[in-house]
Amino acid sequence: MITTPNKNLLLSFSGGVDSTAMLALLLEQHHRIHQVVFFDTGWEHPQLYAHIAQVEQTFQIHLIRIQSDLTFNYLLQAHPVKYRTGPYKTLIKHYGRGWPTWSHRWCTGEKVKALERYADTIHHPLWAIGYDHGEHKRTLKRNPNKHPRIYPLLDQKITHEKAHEICRAYGFHWHELYHEFDRMACFCCPFQRVHQLQTIHSRYPDLWHRIHQMDQRIGPPKRIFAKRKTFDQLDRRFTAETKQLPPVPKQLTFDASTPAATALPPDRIQPHR
Ligand code: SF4
Repeated sequence: MITTPNKNLLLSFSGGVDSTAMLALLLEQHHRIHQVVFFDTGWEHPQLYAHIAQVEQTFQIHLIRIQSDLTFNYLLQAHPVKYRTGPYKTLIKHYGRGWPTWSHRWCTGEKVKALERYADTIHHPLWAIGYDHGEHKRTLKRNPNKHPRIYPLLDQKITHEKAHEICRAYGFHWHELYHEFDRMACFCCPFQRVHQLQTIHSRYPDLWHRIHQMDQRIGPPKRIFAKRKTFDQLDRRFTAETKQLPPVPKQLTFDASTPAATALPPDRIQPHR
């Protein structure tokens, strides 16, 4: 049991398996949650928004949705970026921050700032963060928030697999998104692995098209995706690989009148009739 005397527990909810399991667990254990807070990047998978609606309905709660002051699309494509040093300091270098990189991960910075600002409006806030039992190392990193944190899944030894189990018990399925992606991320996250970007290319052409449009609106310097490739390089590679695939075989449907089916014992055939 978590004791949080005089603290207002804010549950940081990303919509992924771990934070959903943490919410379910804390509610089952009758913890007093002050608010469940979701930071909306505007770049989430459509299935994630559907999942959030399902969570609200299942637990009869209302999530607090917060955003950065300037939208991620604006920051990506149009925000003026100035020279930091040198004789042109303060002059505009280019427009748009471009895709985040490991050395300039501005998106997570915006998220941390917005959550922090929100917590500042709450009396004695205490964040509940959904790191699972395999993510102890993440707690060792410098806490970017000035407000204190707890890790209920870690404390209760809930692994990522167990978190999946908890979510399944409530009927959460994310429209099978987790069958295709190991971890939930923005659909256009440049830190995704190549196979995940390939899945978006082949299974979600509308999202791939959106990434393409976003990428086209970014002026130079072009930033990179997985394996240090630009969007165009990855697009060409995936398109070429798709062309090399053999045509999808015709899907067979079960027909109980075929000789193969009638050769089966009647009790094997019955359920299909
Ligand atoms: S998932 Fe990727 S793009 Fe989205 S906020 Fe995180 S690092 Fe940025």
